[in-house]
Amino acid sequence: MTALATSLTPTHLHFLEALFPGDGLVTRPEEMAVYGADSSRRSAMPWAVVRPRTEEQIVELLRWAEAERVPLVPRLRGTGMSGGAVPAFGGVVVSTLWLNRVLDIDAEDFCAEVEPGVVTAEFQALTQKRRLFYPPDPASLKISTLGGNVATCAGGMRAVKYGVTRDYVLGVRAVLPGGKICDAGGRAHKNVVGLDLTRLFVGSCGTLGIFTKLTLKLLPLPESSATVLAAFGSLHDALEGARGVFRAGILPTALEFMDATACRGIAQIKDVPWPTAPNGDTRAVLLLKIDGSASALADELARLERALSQAGPSCLLKGLGPREEEPLWEIRRLVSPAAFQLGPDKLGEDIAVPRGSTVQAVEGFQALGAEHGVHVACYGHLGDGNIHVNIIYDAQDEGQRARAKACKEAVFRLTLSLGGTISGEHGTGITKAPYVSWQLSETERALMAGIKQVFDPSGILNPGKGWV
Ligand SMILES: Cc1cc2nc3c(=O)[nH]c(=O)nc-3n(C[C@H](O)[C@H](O)[C@H](O)COP(=O)(O)OP(=O)(O)OC[C@H]3O[C@@H](n4cnc5c(N)ncnc54)[C@H](O)[C@@H]3O)c2cc1C
Repeated sequence: MTALATSLTPTHLHFLEALFPGDGLVTRPEEMAVYGADSSRRSAMPWAVVRPRTEEQIVELLRWAEAERVPLVPRLRGTGMSGGAVPAFGGVVVSTLWLNRVLDIDAEDFCAEVEPGVVTAEFQALTQKRRLFYPPDPASLKISTLGGNVATCAGGMRAVKYGVTRDYVLGVRAVLPGGKICDAGGRAHKNVVGLDLTRLFVGSCGTLGIFTKLTLKLLPLPESSATVLAAFGSLHDALEGARGVFRAGILPTALEFMDATACRGIAQIKDVPWPTAPNGDTRAVLLLKIDGSASALADELARLERALSQAGPSCLLKGLGPREEEPLWEIRRLVSPAAFQLGPDKLGEDIAVPRGSTVQAVEGFQALGAEHGVHVACYGHLGDGNIHVNIIYDAQDEGQRARAKACKEAVFRLTLSLGGTISGEHGTGITKAPYVSWQLSETERALMAGIKQVFDPSGILNPGKGWV
């Protein structure tokens, strides 16, 4: 295989200038820097940034890049948490943010066709006007895009009931290295002809093709919703409460939890509704959402309260409808910034374990924090076993830095021993690349390498972000 280019030649730059006239090409370092970073806090300077306005430009770009062996790094809003859009191994960044049209929202087919640069929340607002519902709801939905969500298979709080992004992708149109177009899937909600190439693109992190159009599945919009916050004196009671909810036959839309460290952090920046020392000790908080028809919801809410009450919460608050629910969810949104009350730096991991192992996992992570002398705050999507483990430390202190890394690796080991995964939703990108072989066997990695080779024989698409 011919080696990849290591920089752009003047001839390359002339080609890019001609293909991306005006502000379509960015080469000034001060303008490019922002395209070299994402929310992982990793960064690298791109060789150039191109901003296509049309699919034809992308086809031509991929034809040229394949012939010249120039690495390309697809990028949208750069909110990825694992460095997936960072050109850490060099190359031209391809921002598809200007491909941002909603092409169709069809209430008969219950699907929509969109370009990758559409911001997720803006799309959801449009569907809601038509009484339609696109459930995937990463916490970044106001700042990330549908293309980025599909490329990372983003999850969200509603995953318990509605699943994650992959469950709503009916079709993906992508340009492959060499310039061929693959139009996988379509508007049919069921399709079993051939291998499922659509799903292969979902979560492929820009390594198989550059998306230019997505076909997404929609549902009827639920009529109403309600939220309950319940605080408990022990993690065990909280998890017993959560179990009771499922035992009662209730499938919540969202089931989030915060452990004692996370609750303590929030209490430092906001008046919280749950008991705090010296009047009580809150060791865990659950936040649950349910949705459905207005008539069914009142009954379900009563059943939910009954189920939670059996685990002995110290406080139980409820909100009916978005206006009353919002203050309760605002508390949940504070959990990530509140972590910085406990230290200036954090490693934010997003492991997932089988649902039945959640207590063992959270108690284990807390013990690992104590063992390594760092704060560990756990919170997240209890309903599907996806726990955000925040290891809080001071990066200026060499000893703490080493202990935080050792703690992170111990968290991964415990997760894997419980049958879990080192990433439930953020992907491995560059930040977790060194740990992929801890989870995937040689056989699995060889199969994935073979698939990558078929789509991208020269390895020009997002190099270094694979799984091998
Ligand atoms: C505050 C905050 C909260 C978050 N909450 C969540 C959460 O709840 N759940 C969750 O899953 N994630 C979450 N994330 C992570 C992030 O928002 C998601 O990974 C999101 O899907 C990334 O979208 P983006 O538009 O920013 O894409 P980018 O970060 O720009 O890119 C993501 C990946 O997509 C690839 N890509 C970009 N464009 C294309 C294209 N046209 N074709 C093919 N591949 C492409 C890139 O190469 C990269 O690998 C959060 C991030 C932040 C900052």
